[in-house]
Amino acid sequence: MLTPAQNAQPAAAPIDFDWFAQQLPGWREWVMLRQAHALEHATVWVLNEMQAQTVSTSRWDDGNLGGLATDRGFYLYGTVEVPQLNRAARCALRRLQQGDWQLALHPRCGTNTLVSLVVAASLTLGTSVLLPRSPLAQLVGMGTALTLATQLAPELGSWTQQHLTTEIPFNLQVARVFPTVDLWGRTAHFVQVEWCDSARLKFAS
Ligand SMILES: [Zn+2]
Repeated sequence: MLTPAQNAQPAAAPIDFDWFAQQLPGWREWVMLRQAHALEHATVWVLNEMQAQTVSTSRWDDGNLGGLATDRGFYLYGTVEVPQLNRAARCALRRLQQGDWQLALHPRCGTNTLVSLVVAASLTLGTSVLLPRSPLAQLVGMGTALTLATQLAPELGSWTQQHLTTEIPFNLQVARVFPTVDLWGRTAHFVQVEWCDSARLKFAS
């Protein structure tokens, strides 16, 4: 069992989700997407731990598993059996709900890639506008911008995952796991989740 990391995502205050669902169309789907995204990351971590036959405080990732979250669950890509994935998803959900919040973040997440591109483009554009127009100054500025972007992007990507694209899945339960194909015809497994109204209030208090 991993201990909850310091500075991890804090438990949210109790929220009246029914009120939000009534006032904002799509609110519940947005929350479910973020919570399924966190569960997808955590399940990949747990599967890696199972495959390494160890549970430790150090994260291990062989890069062979991937995922794609939706508002109804997530696709899991890679070699895995249904019983193993079912066990991993339920274990991941339990650990997240018990405070192992770092499992919700993953360095290979597409959020990090997107943030890297935005940061690199913004800094490159910014230095290009601010620096003299000479080719040498522009070249030096671009190199500096890309170096800075490389250093900033991982932290910003992690921050974006934690605060925008994932949420601790207090409202989810695993419904079923089954083999399928995704929208692009790729073979995968799907971990279907269900919404639980009362769970968040129980864990957030
Ligand atoms: Zn992700």
